Amino acid sequence: MSNSTTKPPSSPALRVKALETLLVEKQLVDPKAVDELVDIVENRIGPRNGARVVARAWVDEDYKRRLLHNATSAIAELGYSGGQGEHMVVLENTPSVHNVTVCTLCSCYPWPTLGLPPTWYKSAAYRSRVVLEPREVLKEFELVLPSSTEVRVWDSNAEIRYLVLPMRPEGTEGFSEEQLADLVSRDSMIGVGLALSSPTQSE
Ligand code: FE
Repeated sequence: MSNSTTKPPSSPALRVKALETLLVEKQLVDPKAVDELVDIVENRIGPRNGARVVARAWVDEDYKRRLLHNATSAIAELGYSGGQGEHMVVLENTPSVHNVTVCTLCSCYPWPTLGLPPTWYKSAAYRSRVVLEPREVLKEFELVLPSSTEVRVWDSNAEIRYLVLPMRPEGTEGFSEEQLADLVSRDSMIGVGLALSSPTQSE
């Protein structure tokens, strides 16, 4: 599904990357400190929004229907909208279909629901390999799917940003919406992981 309309990274993005590379090379910043800051945005702030969307869909059938029908407006119902989230599409995982998202040309990513993309999402290796050998790539994320499950790879384009709706884990019938949101990892919403079965389970 790759297409030629996806824009390359913006000039500011390229300049920031060049600056970061230079600062690290000159040993003026510790890459670990940069990673730590990115981790805060990536894992502790951003994906929490997407997790709330998923948890709501798990507990509210009507909401889920709206989400699958018009993701942008359903996500905005929870207050998440804005740049890189103007044209959202939600992909529902089922026992027979597992969805994975990528931007093969650059690093398009749904910022309002997931925050900033992780480094690997932007890597040339992920962007090319997940299309060619998705099952191999998923294995590297320790995700092995039954051969009966079809893997669908979705390539972001100039407008559309995807969010995967992972399957609700078994044994979570009594969970509150907030507890359910704790199970929804960033990776499960990109499609390289599953929702956790307990909040303490590390990724
Ligand atoms: Fe992109």
